[in-house]
Amino acid sequence: MSDRPDYALAIHGGAGPKPGRDYSAVEHHLSTLIGEGEAMLKAGASAVDTVEQMVRELELSGLYVAGRGAASNAQGYVELDAAIMDGARMQAGAIAAARDLINPVEGARAVLEHTPHILLAGEGADLFCAEHKLARVDDPAIWYRLPVGVEVDETKTDELAHGTVGAVAMDQQGRLAAATSTGGLFGKRAGRVGDTPLIGIGNWADQDVCVSCTGLGEYFILGGVARDVAARMRYGGQSLKDACQGALDEVARLGGDGGLTAINSRGEIVTEFNSNGLKTAYVTAGSAPVTRIFS
Ligand code: ASP
Repeated sequence: MSDRPDYALAIHGGAGPKPGRDYSAVEHHLSTLIGEGEAMLKAGASAVDTVEQMVRELELSGLYVAGRGAASNAQGYVELDAAIMDGARMQAGAIAAARDLINPVEGARAVLEHTPHILLAGEGADLFCAEHKLARVDDPAIWYRLPVGVEVDETKTDELAHGTVGAVAMDQQGRLAAATSTGGLFGKRAGRVGDTPLIGIGNWADQDVCVSCTGLGEYFILGGVARDVAARMRYGGQSLKDACQGALDEVARLGGDGGLTAINSRGEIVTEFNSNGLKTAYVTAGSAPVTRIFS
């Protein structure tokens, strides 16, 4: 008999929290949401549906740099990136530099379900999402809001404020999935795409592990992070913890920082960061949920 738990779920709201700021609204939101996600998995929802729903809620909240809280670029408008991967089917979908979707993760899921492609970008992504009648922002000036922990002056400095949301899950059938969504960096150049929608970089799921990353995307791209975690486990025989730590050490060696959440096929959860903190909550069947920001 396997001793793996019935299910496991971890969600995150980015690795950019700043010490001294008030994240109580985020803490409350993550605690509530992890309970909703646990209820889905307990009721038999699939991992891929659960991570999509978690990211949808994180996007809608406006508390994080994704969806409603997304960053506007140097040209003054928002471009959104999102990805989702179903490890059981080995299928993925993603959108990059898409405009004014209420839930970018729905665009990623639609690419997974309804195209032979994996990543649609820019105007092509917008056209595809319109064809699939995905909900769009009516008035960007009213819809978008500054996420918790980011101050107005920080949206215009060289030190680019950033954030992401994500979820990883193992369902009762042992299937793994990951979803990640971001507005990227405040003040980024139009057309800049980070790690989040790149499968194997900011987001990955196979039959061994699912991973969702956050941090300055350029370094995560250079480190090939999410697939690096999977490769360290598969070819290097590393534990989930060592693989996550090793991949993040490589990001640090390249000059970046950030964090990730991951679950393996035994239902073990790792949330790891080398930045100031990681806004995260996680739960395993039979254990009490945990929410944490800095510790
Ligand atoms: N990884 C995201 C990006 O570079 C930002 C973040 O996670 O904070 O677009």
